[in-house]
Amino acid sequence: MSFEYLGLSDEVLAAVNEAGYTDPTPIQKKTIPSTLQGRDILGIAQTGTGKTASFTLPMIDILSHGRARARMPRSLILEPTRELAAQVEESFEKYGKHSKLSCALLIGGTDFVGQSKKLDKGVDVLIATPGRLLDHMERGNVMLTGVELLVVDEADRMLDMGFIPDIERICKMLPKKIQSLFFSATMPPEVKKLTDSFLKDPKEFEVSAPTQTAVTIEENLVKFKGDDKIKRNVLRHLIDESDIKNAIIFCNRKKEVKIVNKSLNVHGYSAAELHGDLHQDTRMETLAKFKNGDIKILVASDVAARGLDIPDVGHVFNYDIPSNPEDYIHRIGRTGRAGKEGTAYTLSTHMDKKYLTTLLKFLDKDIPLHKVPKEVLEDPRKAKKRPLNEKKSSEIDESNQKDDKVIVGMGDHVPDFLLR
Ligand code: AMP
Repeated sequence: MSFEYLGLSDEVLAAVNEAGYTDPTPIQKKTIPSTLQGRDILGIAQTGTGKTASFTLPMIDILSHGRARARMPRSLILEPTRELAAQVEESFEKYGKHSKLSCALLIGGTDFVGQSKKLDKGVDVLIATPGRLLDHMERGNVMLTGVELLVVDEADRMLDMGFIPDIERICKMLPKKIQSLFFSATMPPEVKKLTDSFLKDPKEFEVSAPTQTAVTIEENLVKFKGDDKIKRNVLRHLIDESDIKNAIIFCNRKKEVKIVNKSLNVHGYSAAELHGDLHQDTRMETLAKFKNGDIKILVASDVAARGLDIPDVGHVFNYDIPSNPEDYIHRIGRTGRAGKEGTAYTLSTHMDKKYLTTLLKFLDKDIPLHKVPKEVLEDPRKAKKRPLNEKKSSEIDESNQKDDKVIVGMGDHVPDFLLR
């Protein structure tokens, strides 16, 4: 079935065509006609399924008639993270290029005054994270009484991030008669309660079971014994042996993100870090560089795991096994998107045993084992004679390790200035 049969306007179809899409994805086939008919929607779909276009495309047509009034947006899209919100805005730019809709992005970490000015002019589509929207509402910068259409995206992520009370507060400020679209990768009871109370006779669509990983992803489990230094050796070996166009490496903690990124850079890899501690502008800049190929490897925390729309990521590395097994699906879902092929490697040491058991139980399947050569697991420090006053590897504080690169001719001691 092609896009022509979904009931979209010629302007939207032209934009879809220019985006290079030939056929709608399953979620698009299912939701677009019902959304255009004005139905409430409950879509159970993970990222990478074409979910964003499934609500953006019909919204452009629904909002094509009518005019925006000052401070009264005509539609509202709630996203759990700034990155996701920014990506939805990009989608509106891409798919709405032949339409004349105005958009505003209300996210934390960026210019508050500029956002209010945009609201003053009147916007058709307001894309917001819950906290920043509430800030603007409290200051009287925005009223939700003109909203005709609401989208709550990644509802289960909203739950994880503690946003459900905010969403409830926001929904109470909306007019009674609106069309609502909710999307979630999973349906925990709290999300079910929310959708039961806000959606009216919704059309429900599920595109793949939450524990399913995309079939286009080749998964590998790399099991070995060793400390963080060995782990980074293994990671570099995997990067080197794969023909990498670009890759995302996920770590459980920000501290690890920083260490792994630093280590890769010292070893000459084109890498950058992405996590919640960074200023919004830096995050956006890094993401843009990664998207246009200036940076090949993105080392990220789970903040970046969900919804990042980076088309065609070839490889995903789980440097750690995620503590929440659902994050595994979201992490490896960064590759193998929209039918493309991708490869995922998950590193697991004896320290991850508990998380590995939980993950395999959750997936209800084994991940094929991938072996690395023995020498990759050898600690270069131990191959040499350790000077008497040198600490054992277990005594070294990981956060203070500048580098694990062996510099020939320097012995085991590498002066600090060489590592900066
Ligand atoms: P999403 O699940 O919304 O994050 O989308 C995942 C990726 O699929 C994005 O890079 C979209 O640009 C792309 N995409 C969305 N719809 C289609 C389609 N019908 N055909 C091919 N790619 C698509």
